[in-house]
Amino acid sequence: MKPDQLLHPAPAGLYCPAGDFYIDPVRPVARALITHGHSDHARAGHGAVLATRETLDIMEIRYGADFCGTRQAAAFGERIDLSGVTVSFHPAGHVLGSAQIAVEKAGLTIVASGDYKRGADPTVTPYEPVPCDVFITEATFGLPVFHHPEPKGEMGKLLTSLRQFPERSHLLGAYSLGKAQRVIRLLRDCGYDAPVYIHGSLARLCDYYVSRGVALGDMRPATTEGSRPADFRGAVVVGPPSAFADRWARRFNEPLVAFASGWMMVRQRAKQGGVELPLVISDHCDWPELTETIRELAPREVWVTHGREEALVRWCELAGIPARPLHLVGYEDEGD
Ligand SMILES: [Zn+2]
Repeated sequence: MKPDQLLHPAPAGLYCPAGDFYIDPVRPVARALITHGHSDHARAGHGAVLATRETLDIMEIRYGADFCGTRQAAAFGERIDLSGVTVSFHPAGHVLGSAQIAVEKAGLTIVASGDYKRGADPTVTPYEPVPCDVFITEATFGLPVFHHPEPKGEMGKLLTSLRQFPERSHLLGAYSLGKAQRVIRLLRDCGYDAPVYIHGSLARLCDYYVSRGVALGDMRPATTEGSRPADFRGAVVVGPPSAFADRWARRFNEPLVAFASGWMMVRQRAKQGGVELPLVISDHCDWPELTETIRELAPREVWVTHGREEALVRWCELAGIPARPLHLVGYEDEGD
């Protein structure tokens, strides 16, 4: 069997004809396998959904209990037969519950890694390499210029700023699934034990992380109704970046806007977003992680999905591994 007979790009996403399922489809389908809860990968309206328990729970939190027809939870490593095709889910280290999906038939294994990272993150199950013939990788930060620094060092910049500007409310922008919980946990791991104020839109996902055993410490609602700006003097307020462009943010005391994202490596992005304190904290692989992962797995072939496909394809070819871009559309990672 040729690899693209087992799995190939179709308008709705990666499709497996033998098992009649899609991986992370971008439009409603009869059967979907979902790698993780970010909105570009996990959409509402499918018939049957197979995903990790955490991803199913996150989809329910975001879309409501009727987000799909039927659902099935896959444990990490469990082998599930779908019309003669074996599928299994393996940790991807990206956000809580995120998985790579291995698809096997007739001795051929393809691993669709979804979004993944290799760096330490205590809010997720760490990435596990899965031996395969074809490795499908994203390339969000697929250029040699992308090197993500040590996250604790980045968080140290925020702590330094809090000491330097003890009057100012530090508004820390972070996407609501994954990054927000990771930065709160990082603050705790850096010894910050004061209350962290959170925007209302983060509450349910933060509570869910806590219910799954991720300790986030003292979190309080950052409600400005009935409170004075002085109440948030010197406090850390975490919210989605969109909230900080809003009137909501101007109520805080001399707000200082920080933003935790892999994109903060690009100075222009920070400037355009009015970010005073950019923190380079990413839930994706940087260039060394992408290339080291491919070297470690040594697959027969690499397929590159969304991001900067061309540079990674070229790198694979120079390393003697056939590679091609899949040109999948509809994945604009929400989470970084
Ligand atoms: Zn993602």
